[in-house]
Amino acid sequence: MDTGQAEAVRAGTDAGVIVVIEDDADIADLVALSLRREGFRVLQASDAVTGLGLIDRERPRLAIVDIGLPGPRDGLDVCRDLQAHGAVPVVLLTARDDEIDRVLGLELGADDYVTKPFSPRELVARVKVILRRSERPRLVAALHRLGRLTVDEGRRDATVDGTPVPLTTREFDLLAYLAHNRGLALSRRQILDGAWEPGWFGDERTVDVHVRQLRRKLGDALELQTVWGVGYRLA
Ligand code: CA
Repeated sequence: MDTGQAEAVRAGTDAGVIVVIEDDADIADLVALSLRREGFRVLQASDAVTGLGLIDRERPRLAIVDIGLPGPRDGLDVCRDLQAHGAVPVVLLTARDDEIDRVLGLELGADDYVTKPFSPRELVARVKVILRRSERPRLVAALHRLGRLTVDEGRRDATVDGTPVPLTTREFDLLAYLAHNRGLALSRRQILDGAWEPGWFGDERTVDVHVRQLRRKLGDALELQTVWGVGYRLA
């Protein structure tokens, strides 16, 4: 048993399983140690196929996935696969010059990314935010009817003309926030604070990526206007 596990056991906590897919052993170990200190059980894989097998078997609360992995499949393939199965939030690890991959990763359903080199503390903070958000109980489960589009917060689903449209956690949170505030012009900062978490330290362009995805998935049923110089308004 390593120090992290020992601490978790001593603390009597089990925060659940996180799978880390990263081929750089130093980074993987550092990430694992930081998460174990917080009571998570961490399972590691150094390639996509092994990692997906672990995720399938262990049903982790979250996966941390390096984009650049050895072998025929990379971290984006992992996102794509998980998106098809749904339900496992993903944080991507990316290199500094990986902007296109980052955007693609978000489009493929990743919930967040951190850019190497990153501080383990920042990564752990982001993991906790995502877990809180994806699993927080909704006391007020609103049902929004927006023309052809229905957003059901209780069931966390969106339908167009009665047909369910699969959305990522992040996309759904964004849509629900827009629905709550329909008619109002919202800045990207407001959207990040409201739909994600107050003080979210992410890039405001993240909002644009998710808006593009919502538009693509929901089509004309999403009456979302771009308010130049401000952000977005749901009609
Ligand atoms: Ca790598």
